[in-house]
Amino acid sequence: PIKVAVMTSGGDSAGMNAAVRSAVKMAIYKGAHAYVIREGWEGLVRGNEAGSEEGQRTPTGYAKGNDVFIPTYGEGDLLREGVGEADEIGLKGRYIVRVGWDDVRGWMSEGGTLIGTARCAEFRERSGRLKAAKNLISCGINALVCCGGDGSLSGLDRLRQEWSSLVKELHDTNKITSKQAEKHSSLRVSGIVGSIDGDFSGTDLSLGFPTALTRIVEAIDSISSTASSHQRAFVVEVMGRASGALASSAAISVGADYVFVPERPPSVNWRDEMCDILRRQRIVGKRRTIVILAEGAIDSDLNPIKAEDVRLCLEKQLQVDARSTILGHVQRGGKPVAEDRILATLQGVEAVNAVMEATPETPSYVIGIRDDTIVRLPLIEAVKQTHQVSEHIQNKQFDKALALRDPEFIE
Ligand code: ADP
Repeated sequence: PIKVAVMTSGGDSAGMNAAVRSAVKMAIYKGAHAYVIREGWEGLVRGNEAGSEEGQRTPTGYAKGNDVFIPTYGEGDLLREGVGEADEIGLKGRYIVRVGWDDVRGWMSEGGTLIGTARCAEFRERSGRLKAAKNLISCGINALVCCGGDGSLSGLDRLRQEWSSLVKELHDTNKITSKQAEKHSSLRVSGIVGSIDGDFSGTDLSLGFPTALTRIVEAIDSISSTASSHQRAFVVEVMGRASGALASSAAISVGADYVFVPERPPSVNWRDEMCDILRRQRIVGKRRTIVILAEGAIDSDLNPIKAEDVRLCLEKQLQVDARSTILGHVQRGGKPVAEDRILATLQGVEAVNAVMEATPETPSYVIGIRDDTIVRLPLIEAVKQTHQVSEHIQNKQFDKALALRDPEFIE
């Protein structure tokens, strides 16, 4: 049978658990064996260190060699508890775990990622990817679904591109048998974009973006009422790396007074321009001022604009009581909103379909959504375009950057 492993990698985002749940269930539904890889690429590089004790009993299941099979556990809560308490349930040193239908029950509404995520320097090196290949082959896994950001997905494609040469090296150095080399001549992969930043080109939405936006709007609504009571101005910095998608969407949602996004930087005289606008609003009776700043905000000379710069400017030039708030990690967390759950479920299904149908000739796909339709995008091109946006911004070609972000922005 096809053995599909599902993993999460890079920064966590709401909806990752729902995506894992969906992919695991779809794999089983399609007659495949489903596995999860704990702790991202780090877990794959480590593999099942606890290794080869034959038929070792764990408190809740049964581990045989590298095939750790935990049939089901109570209400399917195995991994939920397993992440924090790997030791107690016999998962210590075991990062590749076969899972059943019940193991992912109840995962839809959980925030973060229960199977863990990590950054892994070793996977950036061939030596790390060689270990990863060995561990996949040892478990008989021939398909990999990864949910993560552009970095994690670049790593996924790299593993696939190198696969034949990794298998050859493992065989030449007697780390795998000829039979294994033959059986694992190719690796099926597909990706799901898990990123709150909304900076991935080619998809209208990435997993975690709707939830992050909701958290931002909730936070600014709270800030807004206190701002209005005291006639204060608030500067709110939101996440998004080089993307202004969260900032601009939040600005529309809360009716902000001014917004800074990297793709449409203001002139170097932004202080005067901003204060002119805000002053006029105050004159006609507005009691509060909300300015939203993307974390990657810059002026048209590429000088970074920081929340404190804006706050000081408001205090000095507008002469109002101004405060600044950097929202930070509250944006990542919490229960996924319905839109993320739906996106995760549909994308998880399609990611499994893509690996089941993959042939050595098909490109690696990342699953996206365009115009309300789930689509397969060529992974490498999508990642390349995502990186080109930053390059265009660095070259002050802002229109080109915006065009590539399409359809996040309306000109
Ligand atoms: P994100 O996936 O959220 O963009 P990172 O860029 O930190 O997060 O990538 C997560 C992990 O993916 C890295 O720690 C590394 O293990 C792996 N990775 C990222 N870029 C590459 C690459 N070009 N080649 C191989 N692995 C990579």
